[in-house]
Amino acid sequence: MHHVVILGGGYGGLRVIQRLLAEKDRKDFRITLVEREPYHSLKTEFYALAAGTVADNHLRIPFPEDDRLELVYDLASNIRLEDNIVELGSGKELPYDELIIGLGCEDKHHGVPGAEENSLSIQSMRRARKSNQIIQKIRHNGRVSIVGGGLSGVETAAELRESRPDLEIFLFDRGANILSMFPKKLYSYVTEWFVENDVTIVNHANITKVERHMIFNHDEPMEMDAIIWTAGVQPNKVARELDVEKDRLGRLVVTIHHHLPNYENAFVVGDCASSTHAPSAQLAEAQGDQIAMLLFKKWDGEPYPEKMPRIKLKGVLGSLGKKHGFGLMGEKSLVGRVPRVLKSGVLWMYKHHSGS
Ligand SMILES: Cc1cc2nc3c(=O)[nH]c(=O)nc-3n(C[C@H](O)[C@H](O)[C@H](O)COP(=O)(O)OP(=O)(O)OC[C@H]3O[C@@H](n4cnc5c(N)ncnc54)[C@H](O)[C@@H]3O)c2cc1C
Repeated sequence: MHHVVILGGGYGGLRVIQRLLAEKDRKDFRITLVEREPYHSLKTEFYALAAGTVADNHLRIPFPEDDRLELVYDLASNIRLEDNIVELGSGKELPYDELIIGLGCEDKHHGVPGAEENSLSIQSMRRARKSNQIIQKIRHNGRVSIVGGGLSGVETAAELRESRPDLEIFLFDRGANILSMFPKKLYSYVTEWFVENDVTIVNHANITKVERHMIFNHDEPMEMDAIIWTAGVQPNKVARELDVEKDRLGRLVVTIHHHLPNYENAFVVGDCASSTHAPSAQLAEAQGDQIAMLLFKKWDGEPYPEKMPRIKLKGVLGSLGKKHGFGLMGEKSLVGRVPRVLKSGVLWMYKHHSGS
C-alpha cells in the first residue's frame, strides 16, 4: 500500500487528490491530506472577501469523502526529507512514502520596515477575513492604500471601490503602469476604469516604510486608515526552510517530473514550485494532473515519460468589481463585460466540478 502525504489542499493539492481518487477501482494507495483549514479555499476570490462583497462560506469547498483519503487538519511545520517524515504543529510526526508539497505562498515585504506588521493581507482565508473586519470599521470617507498594481492589487482596489464608495482609495505601483505585464490595451482600459471610479493610481511608487496608520512613499508620509499589501509573494515558510536548491524567487527547483532533484519521492505543486510560468491556480492544477499521472506510472512500475506534455494555460481573467473585467487569452486582450462574465463562469465551473 503506497502512502501519499499531501501538504496543503489548495488548487494543486486538491487536484492531485481528485485525480488519484478518480481511479475508483484502485485500492493500492492511501492519501493523507494535511491542511490547516477544514475546507478547500478559493484563493483567487480572496480580494472579494477582503473587500466585503463575498461571504467566506461562498469561498469554501468541502474536501472529497473517500475511504482512501484521510484528512488531518493540522499545520505542517517541518519536513525531514532524509527521514521521509513531516512534523505537524500538534507535535505528531507523519511518515510518508510519497510527499507532495502544495503549501502555496505568503506575502513578501521586500524588507520594507513595518510593512509586515502594519499592513493587511489577502494571502490566506484568515488574513483576508481579518482584513475585511478592519476595512468595514473604517470611518466614513476614510483612506485606504493598496500596495502593488498586479492582478490581485487591481482586483482588490476595484472591489473595495464597489464595496465602499465613500473611501478614498490609493493604488501604489512601482512601474510606469499598473498591470505592466499585460498589453497596453488592457492596462489602459483598467487605468481608465480607475480614473472614472475615483481610485488614485500612484505610479513610480517606492514604499520605504509603513507605520500603523502611515505609508511612506519615497519617504513622504501619508496618513491612511488601512494599508493592504499585494506587492509580492514568496513560497510558504515550510518550503523556504528546506535545505534544497531554490530559484531566485525562493521557489523549490524541481525536475521535469515535478520532484526535488535529490528526492524522487518528494513532489512540489503550485506556488512552491519553480516554473517558467507565472504562479497561478491554473498552473497548480495542471501540475497536479501531471503529478497524479506520474504516481500511477511509478506504482505500476512503468518508466516516466522522457518528455512531459507541455503545460498549456488558458489565459488570465481579472475583475473590476462585479460588472467589468479584463483578460488575456493567448495574444488577445479582452476588456469590459465579457471577461467579467467569463470569470464568473470559470468560478462557477470550478465550484461545480469540485463538489460545492
Ligand atoms: C487575490 C488573488 C487573485 C488571484 N487570481 C487568480 C486568477 O484569477 N487565476 C489564477 O490562476 N490564479 C490566481 N491567483 C493565484 C492563485 O490563487 C495561486 O497561484 C494558487 O492558489 C496556487 O495554488 P497552490 O495549490 O500552490 O496554493 P494554495 O491554493 O494557496 O493552497 C495552499 C494550501 O496550503 C494550506 N497551507 C498553507 N500553509 C500550511 C501549513 N503550514 N500547514 C497546512 N496547510 C497549509 C493553505 O490553507 C491552502 O489551502 C490569485 C491569487 C490571489 C491572492
